[in-house]
Amino acid sequence: MSRRSQGKRSWDVRASVLARNTHNLIRSIVENLQVEPNPNKPLIALSVGDPTVFGNLNPPEQVLQAVRDSIEWSSSRGYGSMVGHQEARQAVAKYSAHQGSVTGDDVILCSGCSHAIELAVTVLADSGQNILVPRPGFMIYKTVAEGLGIEIKHYDLLPNQQWKVDLEDLENQIDKETAAIVVINPSNPCGSVYTREHLTEILEVASRNCVPIIADEIYEHFVFAGHEFTAMSAISKDVPVLTCGGLTKRFLVPGWRMGWLIIHDRQNILGREVRKGLFNLASKILGPSTLIQRALPTILESTPQSFFDEVVLFIENQAKLAFEELQRVPGLKPIMPQGAMYMMIEIKMSQFPEFKSELQFVERMVAEQSVFCLPGECFCYPNYMRIVLTVPEDILREACQRIAVFCQDHIASRENINKIGSNEVALANEACETINV
Ligand SMILES: *Cc1c(COP(=O)(O)O)cnc(C)c1O
Repeated sequence: MSRRSQGKRSWDVRASVLARNTHNLIRSIVENLQVEPNPNKPLIALSVGDPTVFGNLNPPEQVLQAVRDSIEWSSSRGYGSMVGHQEARQAVAKYSAHQGSVTGDDVILCSGCSHAIELAVTVLADSGQNILVPRPGFMIYKTVAEGLGIEIKHYDLLPNQQWKVDLEDLENQIDKETAAIVVINPSNPCGSVYTREHLTEILEVASRNCVPIIADEIYEHFVFAGHEFTAMSAISKDVPVLTCGGLTKRFLVPGWRMGWLIIHDRQNILGREVRKGLFNLASKILGPSTLIQRALPTILESTPQSFFDEVVLFIENQAKLAFEELQRVPGLKPIMPQGAMYMMIEIKMSQFPEFKSELQFVERMVAEQSVFCLPGECFCYPNYMRIVLTVPEDILREACQRIAVFCQDHIASRENINKIGSNEVALANEACETINV
């Protein structure tokens, strides 16, 4: 009856190379951990970088009302422009005036900051090229890039200098195929906030080597007393900067998926082609949710400064509390953050010889104390763990006490420590390269 087609004669449906080569490092590591909590203690997850999970931090009423109002407008139900409603783009430009002169035309609205990151990476880099990302650092860059054959190269941050960039290492990592340098400021997972001087030093490296910068500023303005946020774009004289931001963290609405990318290009180095390329790439999703876009001007204009101040003060107090508690714990060395909502804690692994790596350390801490911290490996940084500071105060206090008990239970006596070879530490350092994800 039917003619034989050119098609296959049997089923053979496979996941694409891109799908198979795309990984989320945090998810793959966490899924492989044995995290069965102690049934006698309620689990405290200090692992999830989502400030809404405990219900103690909420956006202000004005922000909620803006979205309630938005639902009534028919324009919040239709498609918008691929790069966003003009009104919403202009509102982002106005809100971002501290980044330097920006107009609505320089703004692309995105589905969350991660989408902005994807646009920035994929507009600049081709397969075979590389982008430089900080270590430790948020690993969405790896997720976005590796499946496309874009290589991730790391440059080191210096834990003893408030996580400043090792500028020499940064410059050494750059080669002819380097398409962009990623700077995350304030930092996830470190909580560091860079000074204007330090950002200038980073820009000098980028300028000398003619490499554009992707500035991940999703934590902009999220800085503790005595520190100041400086936008990378505000001080760049020549280096093109693609700034990635959004509502997610500062307005406490990660699920709303509203982010943006802002093009800063004072010397017109990127030219029309990159700009057009960004617009092309943005068209892949036909633009982000117009429900939130319609509410965006009101959200950005009517949120009272007091709301931001209260959230930051809360987190700063949490950081102080956790730092004071954990500083006294033998075998741990917390590093006081200057902003964002996390703290990195060094685990002196040589003092806990029964654990081969910090992965085992955090696993056992869940099993015994029901406290889950994210292992440093999730940020390509073994021997550390990251905690989130957005949990309610009593829970954070309880968590710190349980962490202290765990360390006291497992810290080795002095004689034992001396017996350990440096071998194991070296092994742990290699783990990031060898982990199978
Ligand atoms: C949370 C986070 C993002 C992603 O933000 P979304 O708007 O949820 O996509 C990007 N970069 C860093 C450093 C983050 O911590």
